[in-house]
Amino acid sequence: MPTESEKAKSLTIFLPGGVLPPALARTAAEVAEEFGCGLYLTTVQNLRLVDVPAGVAAEVEKRLVAAGADVKKPGCFPKLKICVGRPHCNLAKADSQELARLLHERYGGRQGIKPKIKLAFAACPASCSNATLADIGIVATRKGYDLYVGGKGGGRPLVGRRVLQGVDAAAILDAVGRLVDYHQEKTGKKQRMCKLINEDDFPYPVPAGG
Ligand code: SF4
Repeated sequence: MPTESEKAKSLTIFLPGGVLPPALARTAAEVAEEFGCGLYLTTVQNLRLVDVPAGVAAEVEKRLVAAGADVKKPGCFPKLKICVGRPHCNLAKADSQELARLLHERYGGRQGIKPKIKLAFAACPASCSNATLADIGIVATRKGYDLYVGGKGGGRPLVGRRVLQGVDAAAILDAVGRLVDYHQEKTGKKQRMCKLINEDDFPYPVPAGG
């Protein structure tokens, strides 16, 4: 049985907006071939190197970082999972990459973020990225952006509650920060947003009659 230090490791590379720069793709392919690792595209649009032999994990990480990789560490600000959006989808009402970039620019440097918050964005109500099932989900419509909170998948899936409707990108960015701050304040180790949306001091209370 392998000891802890002999076990294979995995390394996840953050890919904001799911975009893999060609130079990084080349380096990832090279190290994967050289060290016999696997390349796995995660469900949240990151790239994970799996089966990295423990003895070379530091070397693999060093080469990836030198090629521009942002290697995921515990406590990173959650990344926005997006659909393809404008200009690649005819139904899109917004540019998914742009919103992912704005969010990453504003909050990507934050550390110490408690799990488990999942963020997703859909550029139209078809919601191919399952934004309404995310802890914080953003959906573009003809009238602006709608914000959903408290969605989740799993054995007991929940659709998030819509808390903002038809707002602009600036309001969405502010709201995401406010919600993550609230989650930080209310969470011990980890927690889904659905556990918080009915708290008395939740920033977006249920409207009367809602
Ligand atoms: S959610 Fe809408 S805009 Fe995004 S990929 Fe699906 S159909 Fe296209």
